[in-house]
Amino acid sequence: MLASRAAQISLREAALAAVTPGFYLYLRAVIEPCVLRAGFLLPIAAGPIAGGAVAVRDGRIVWVGTADSSGRPSWPVRELGPGVLLPGLVNAHTHLELSALRDRVTGAGFTEWVAALVEARGLVAPEATREAVRSAISDLEQRGTVAVGDVSNGLEHVDLLGESRLSAVVYYEQLAWAPERARRVLDQAEARLRELRLPAHVVVRLAAHAPHSVSPPLLRAMAARGGPAALHLAESPDEVRFLRTGDGAWSDFLRARVGGVDFDAPGLSPVAYAEALGVLHPGLVAAHCVQVDASDVGRLARHGVSVVACPRSNRRLGLGVPPVPELLAAGVNVALGSDSLASAPSLDVLDDAVALRREFPALAPGAILSAATLGGALALGFDDLGTLVAGRRAALAFAPGPPSLDEPEAFLLSGRARVRSVA
Ligand SMILES: [Zn+2]
Repeated sequence: MLASRAAQISLREAALAAVTPGFYLYLRAVIEPCVLRAGFLLPIAAGPIAGGAVAVRDGRIVWVGTADSSGRPSWPVRELGPGVLLPGLVNAHTHLELSALRDRVTGAGFTEWVAALVEARGLVAPEATREAVRSAISDLEQRGTVAVGDVSNGLEHVDLLGESRLSAVVYYEQLAWAPERARRVLDQAEARLRELRLPAHVVVRLAAHAPHSVSPPLLRAMAARGGPAALHLAESPDEVRFLRTGDGAWSDFLRARVGGVDFDAPGLSPVAYAEALGVLHPGLVAAHCVQVDASDVGRLARHGVSVVACPRSNRRLGLGVPPVPELLAAGVNVALGSDSLASAPSLDVLDDAVALRREFPALAPGAILSAATLGGALALGFDDLGTLVAGRRAALAFAPGPPSLDEPEAFLLSGRARVRSVA
């Protein structure tokens, strides 16, 4: 027994020695049993715990409590100091492949911005895109994000996610307006998915861009197969007008892009139209949902749709913000996303949490921080992330704070807190 334990340790040490110094420290932190103690613990599943600690073994949380409460394993203690230890952040809606477009897309209003994005995207060399994605992933890893919902049209960077520590759901997004192309687009996308070989922490799912950019036959075909897994929904007034009347800025854009708009506008809100197509389903991750009324909120709740709020991106494009208090009151799972660097200044969803706090000062801080962690984990299907509870993955983040800290949630949402990964 002793010999076998020694063999296990030496194997473990050998494995650790074979990796880079930074990753070595990370692995030691998640593999070796220890107790992490901080000024405050924010388990998300419960309120803040002063002097809280978590015991971690083999990358899993095995115990949560205060440093002196009974049952604490007598393992080495790592003091993190004043500040807040919380579950790693989850950015549930971003587009890593647009990371090279930081500060390069201008244009007021949704359609103008999309037109500028299409043009700017065409000017970026593949190597520059890849380097920007690599840098974005590194930033996320260091700044306390542990999982992403990443929308991609090309899947060219999924190997970089595979090499990273991030858990990722990559939404393979289809954009196709011509109805006659629906079958071919779907067949090609499914063939591409079948040939992917990825590690277990990266999952790729078929998604659609939006109800105003994907033809009804393609959306119905995806719905018939239990999808799409993600959708931009009810983002802009241009989308609302196009689906109501078939005209406006989006119609003009489509006409210029594809040469004609053969579309019988349903005269419905985006959410009602998505419902009519059969696209709303439990597990659907709908980004934005800004242009929604009470009936739409009810529809999203009834169908078990997760909504990813992207408040900084929405404000940047002048679109408003989603009615997060109403969504939460209706029982909708709300997550946070940054959207891409083409419309947000960072990929850090703590910045979106701060923005949401400013939009809705009466919203409970705990609800906002839950959206930045547990809400995202639930939306993406990572059941072992998002809370500090025994049995969950020890994917942790820490925000150093002043010794005088006494309101950890308010501090995290103050705009002064910076979160880093615990490694
Ligand atoms: Zn997006």
